[in-house]
Amino acid sequence: MTIDGKPVRLTFGSKVGIYVHIPFCRQKCLYCDFCSFPGVSPERIEAYTERLCSQIREICSQTESLEADTVFFGGGTPTLLSEGQWDRILSALQDSVRLSADAEITTECNPATAGPAKLKAMRTLGINRLSVGVQSIHPGELRTLGRIHTEEQFEQLARNAREAGFERISFDLMFGFPGQTEESWLSTLRKATGLNPEHLSVYALQLEEGTPLYRDRASYVFPDEDTVARMYDTARTFLEGEGFSRYEVSNYARPGCECRHNLKYWNCEDYLGFGISAHSLVGRTRFYYPGDMESFLRGTAVPVLEEQLSDDRMEEEYAVLRLRLSTGLDMGEAEKRFGEHFARRFLPVLRTMADRHLLICAERNGGEIYRIPDPFFFTENDILSELLACVQEPASFLK
Ligand code: SF4
Repeated sequence: MTIDGKPVRLTFGSKVGIYVHIPFCRQKCLYCDFCSFPGVSPERIEAYTERLCSQIREICSQTESLEADTVFFGGGTPTLLSEGQWDRILSALQDSVRLSADAEITTECNPATAGPAKLKAMRTLGINRLSVGVQSIHPGELRTLGRIHTEEQFEQLARNAREAGFERISFDLMFGFPGQTEESWLSTLRKATGLNPEHLSVYALQLEEGTPLYRDRASYVFPDEDTVARMYDTARTFLEGEGFSRYEVSNYARPGCECRHNLKYWNCEDYLGFGISAHSLVGRTRFYYPGDMESFLRGTAVPVLEEQLSDDRMEEEYAVLRLRLSTGLDMGEAEKRFGEHFARRFLPVLRTMADRHLLICAERNGGEIYRIPDPFFFTENDILSELLACVQEPASFLK
């Protein structure tokens, strides 16, 4: 395929993850800076679907035979697609990519856009996991966030999804936004776990420039930093008490129900994105499609090179992402992947940080595994930044 107009030969690892971006929403949430267009016509969604199917077929015909064991439909609101549109997109994927028999096929889902018939059709077509954008159950909080669904729609969706045969359901919940209290956060957590999901993603609000919430920030009262940190701890304590394990900074799952697609990102494995604004990492090549809808619909959108990762950059990314996982950074696995170079760069810094109790070091099969201690998980960015600074500037670290 061509990237930035130059022919590039992409060599894939064993099994890739496929990401498909559906950039439409009924209305824009006030905190959202994702590439999504609100209130577009059905004709526009239809034109996008057509083009997306062509793009999947074109790109896959230009690459070596592809096998995928995860597919993730994100957005946007993929559940705005009709049954026929789902059918065509999934057929395009099945015609172009060998999907493993046990492939995890997830779609993001807005409770206001997926009734029982659509859920049943999606399940029948092969989607086997739902990632539901919930954020809160409280009407005032949902209004503050600009969400279009109600608590009742959320409950109904959870019931309908089970009846449709979904055995893997995840809820996205948000904390740290204006008007939310520690009590209301706990009641959202209670309601969500009461509906028996297998997985929860629990994120603090990120105030992104360009969003209405950012523009009007002076007129809101945001919880202070200590309150937000307590909300994170409340989620951890409560969810662990309910039988969920935190396997990544913001993600919890019942045993064996971790999101396999997201684990590919965190393990620096290959993923291939389709649709506007979709990102890919294949080997050391990171590229994306621009968010320009018009050129996409005309069929003239070309992938743009984001970064050709050097050995050092790849190692750094791997170390940071592995430390975000509760399983931590296993030096044996890292050396198998990157050779001794990895240990030479990282081990002195990791050992020093462990001596300072910023990391925990455990031994397994004679090798070392580093983890961020539980109390520091919410502020892990500081620890990871320090790790990178020391690895990149060993001279100043050794002073
Ligand atoms: S539904 Fe999701 S993608 Fe759409 S505006 Fe809201 S947060 Fe953004």
